[in-house]
Amino acid sequence: MKTGIKVKFWGVRGSIPTPGVKYIKYGGNTPCVEVQLPNNQLFIFDAGTGIRELGNILCKGEGKSKIHIFLSHFHWDHIQGLPFFMPSYIKENELVILGMDRQEARLDKIIFNQMESIYFPVKLQSLAAHIQFQILTEGENVIEGVKVGTMCLNHPGQAMGYVITFGKTKIGYFTDNELIPAWVTGAFKMEYKSDMRERALQLISGADLLIHDAQYTDEEYKTKVSWGHSSLTEVLCLAKEGGVKRLALFHHDPDHFDEQIDVIAATCKAYLNGSSANLECFAAQEGMELHF
Ligand SMILES: [Zn+2]
Ligand SMILES: [Zn+2]
Repeated sequence: MKTGIKVKFWGVRGSIPTPGVKYIKYGGNTPCVEVQLPNNQLFIFDAGTGIRELGNILCKGEGKSKIHIFLSHFHWDHIQGLPFFMPSYIKENELVILGMDRQEARLDKIIFNQMESIYFPVKLQSLAAHIQFQILTEGENVIEGVKVGTMCLNHPGQAMGYVITFGKTKIGYFTDNELIPAWVTGAFKMEYKSDMRERALQLISGADLLIHDAQYTDEEYKTKVSWGHSSLTEVLCLAKEGGVKRLALFHHDPDHFDEQIDVIAATCKAYLNGSSANLECFAAQEGMELHF
């Protein structure tokens, strides 16, 4: 039976937008995922360039909106669309921006700085919508009656992973996360919080959907250790071990064209066909909708 939850991908590209004919199928917008809950609650994960079009569509709706935007972290590709999110220019709307504090600056200050006049013509305090900030730390939170589990991911400067549970449906959003293969040794491995994988497994256990950073092929990862992104095999292993039902490969590398992502998705399917896991794997695609 369907629960009425909709997940839509508005941006699936990592690092930098990639317009152009080589990127038509999977899309060039940077991370943004819409989660529409029954009872009309709207949770948005990340504010990459994909959020612009989502905002335009929301503005066509009637009535005021209360929108929660969960930020994984503050690298450009995850916040660049925020100043172009039209619902924030409408007085009746209410926006809650959630994320972690950084040592260097508080959450509100980070977003305030992004809209300083040197970078953008409209200041944060000039936006018409009512905007609030909510700082999250690791653990269990309840946001508007929805369970939201959070944990720090392995990424330069850190990122936050989210798992929402609504009724019996569990959806995980883990982008910009480096799962470290057993063969990696040395100082980087030492630095890495060794229980991170175990905690991630607990949090995503039995998830109906896991959206996970899968930026590199295993071959590419060999030269990108400590860059903060995962290789395909590590992501597949995590999802399999966690008893995840569907895995969306996410944060596609800007150098991966459509044909290459097709090959990556096919390789993952072939890998899973040879295993006993009941896991469906696909490459996230801009415009793709999933219903639960
Ligand atoms: Zn990123
Ligand atoms: Zn990042």
